[in-house]
Amino acid sequence: MADPLPQGSVIGILGGGQLGRMLSVAAARLGYRTHVFEPGADPPAGDVSARVTRAPYDDVAALRAFAESVAVVTYEFENVPAKALDVIEPLCPIRPGRRALAISQDRLAEKTFLTDIGLKTAPFAAVATPAEFEAALVRTGMPAILKTRRLGYDGKGQVRIAAPAEAEAVLAAIQGAEAILEGWVGFSREVSVIAARGMDGRIAAYDPGENLHEDGILRRTTVPARLSRAEATDAVLIAGRILNALDYVGVIGVELFVTPEGFVVNEFAPRVHNSGHWTQTGCLVDQFEQHVRAIAGWPLGDGARHADVTMENLIGDDVLRVAEIAWEPASIHLYGKGEVRPGRKMGHVNRITGGVTSGRR
Ligand code: AMP
Repeated sequence: MADPLPQGSVIGILGGGQLGRMLSVAAARLGYRTHVFEPGADPPAGDVSARVTRAPYDDVAALRAFAESVAVVTYEFENVPAKALDVIEPLCPIRPGRRALAISQDRLAEKTFLTDIGLKTAPFAAVATPAEFEAALVRTGMPAILKTRRLGYDGKGQVRIAAPAEAEAVLAAIQGAEAILEGWVGFSREVSVIAARGMDGRIAAYDPGENLHEDGILRRTTVPARLSRAEATDAVLIAGRILNALDYVGVIGVELFVTPEGFVVNEFAPRVHNSGHWTQTGCLVDQFEQHVRAIAGWPLGDGARHADVTMENLIGDDVLRVAEIAWEPASIHLYGKGEVRPGRKMGHVNRITGGVTSGRR
């Protein structure tokens, strides 16, 4: 294994949201500094990183200066424009690599990749025209969900279809964007696996968490998830297969539907993930440190879980409850976002609900 990044090296982070903020703190704990690249004003990560470049993703000179100032570039969101990466790539390594990013940016490429490596997804088909739509419906059955291929997150850019008559209105709703039609998966619950792969190819996975979404936004993650031992192992192996197929370096979040026929993979995020925030309280080495370890060439840390944890997102007005929550035995994480808006992730709270007695694996 190559030598780890020297102490004091600068890690570049594309995106200055809360994930960048928590990555910056973890990097600092490991003796690194961060340089955040973010087009928006007052990024949450800016409070805790050594340097911030505020520039749009098409500012070639700013991107070049950013890449020249750092030892490695990572990202905290998957919609980084490919052209920005074209500028950065010749100047410094990008971890996780571009293939993972490119695949995760396009739901069609993602589902195709997942099925190509032998994993199960919802039935799917590309849709651009009304004629394709009908053929796609035959393939997926009904109900189905039409999703934009790109730039969807937190349930945005998605429309559910229960009858063929709705097809035209639904296509109009996405305004000609390239789309993918997915068959409806009758899942009993949603779980996710946060896992990491180091530069030496070793993999470490956290226990799967069970996720509850409201209005398409993650509300709560609970560990342990209600899975049998065999299911939990299977979930981790799915994440491992994706990591290896992508020759991945860093942390990944893999979202799975639990069905009577086994797991169906919904999607993966090539970054630290909201459903992995529980690791800050439940594990010796959390997902943020694990990501920094991986991209900086360290051995992966011990991700064994030592507590049962519930992570609750503070969304919009929820953050106004912090004064009360502060009295609870809970760990509070606030993102330093000035303006409270409905649906905006303002922070999260981790609560320990039990201790793990089964010992280390
Ligand atoms: P996504 O943006 O693809 O992660 O979807 C957001 C949420 O919509 C998921 O967490 C599920 O709760 C639901 N969902 C997405 N795709 C499907 C599907 N094919 N079948 C059933 N529910 C889905």
